[in-house]
Amino acid sequence: MERWVEETLHSGFRVRLKADKILFDSETEHQQLIIFENEDFGRVMMLDGIVQLSTRDEFVYHEMMAHVPLFAHGKAKKVLIIGGGDGGVLREVLRHPEVKSATLCEIDRSVIDLCLEHFPDVSGGAYDDKRTKVVIADGTKFVHETDQRFDVILVDSTDPIGPGAVLFTKEFYTDCRRALASGGILVTQNGLPFLQGPELKQSVTYFRDLFDDAFAYVATTPSYFGGSMSYGWATDDKKLRNHKLAKIARRYKKAGAFPTRYWSPEMQVAAFALPTYIRELVEAS
Ligand code: SAM
Repeated sequence: MERWVEETLHSGFRVRLKADKILFDSETEHQQLIIFENEDFGRVMMLDGIVQLSTRDEFVYHEMMAHVPLFAHGKAKKVLIIGGGDGGVLREVLRHPEVKSATLCEIDRSVIDLCLEHFPDVSGGAYDDKRTKVVIADGTKFVHETDQRFDVILVDSTDPIGPGAVLFTKEFYTDCRRALASGGILVTQNGLPFLQGPELKQSVTYFRDLFDDAFAYVATTPSYFGGSMSYGWATDDKKLRNHKLAKIARRYKKAGAFPTRYWSPEMQVAAFALPTYIRELVEAS
């Protein structure tokens, strides 16, 4: 009997994906997790009824979460990833030769184990890299207690539902600020502005109270249904999101110009050019 899996993120808008083969479908310690094959999106993982990853388009989200802040910063050595258990952001972070350590703090060990089993190419060996440190903990507890300082913090979280809700609070962002080294950058998964505008607006409003520069950038991942996906941006150095194309291209060349499928120096510059309806969400009203 054909099975269709429904995404239940939005109250007035539902998407159904045909599950040609179900590989895993059960509760973990923290959330409902399903992995299945779909003819249009490839292998798909959903947590609590929300698409997290599809093998056909994961490169978009992962490249844009990693490369935009790392090339903006230009000399980031210590990186912290909160969430991100599928290992896709970690994979992209470790492509930067300058990065000397990448700490991944994930609340749900099962996500890491099941993604290593069913999505080995997504992490692509990143978990075996000697620069990688894995911490199984709630990200809020980790940043609240750490005495380490990170050049870049990437919050690759679920939506503000279930275990991810705490990762959208001012307390968490305040602790992220404390855990950032001087000149550091915080980037957050911040949802689909067209359908989740208040979420982005709230996060950037908190950033504005904590940092000199609070903004966002966007990219479109087809399996995040509902238009552009936003990445919250917070730092004290306003110049970092206004680098000229030539500077980003030079840094990319110096990093070995590794092949990418979405990110490019041009896409980095373009990602901060926001359409008015999104700009209105991130600019002080
Ligand atoms: N890119 C996806 C998206 O945009 O929806 C997110 C992918 S990643 C799989 C999200 C991860 O955040 C999950 O593995 C989840 O377990 C983790 N997570 C949720 N809440 C967390 C918390 N409080 N601390 C650390 N990790 C958390």
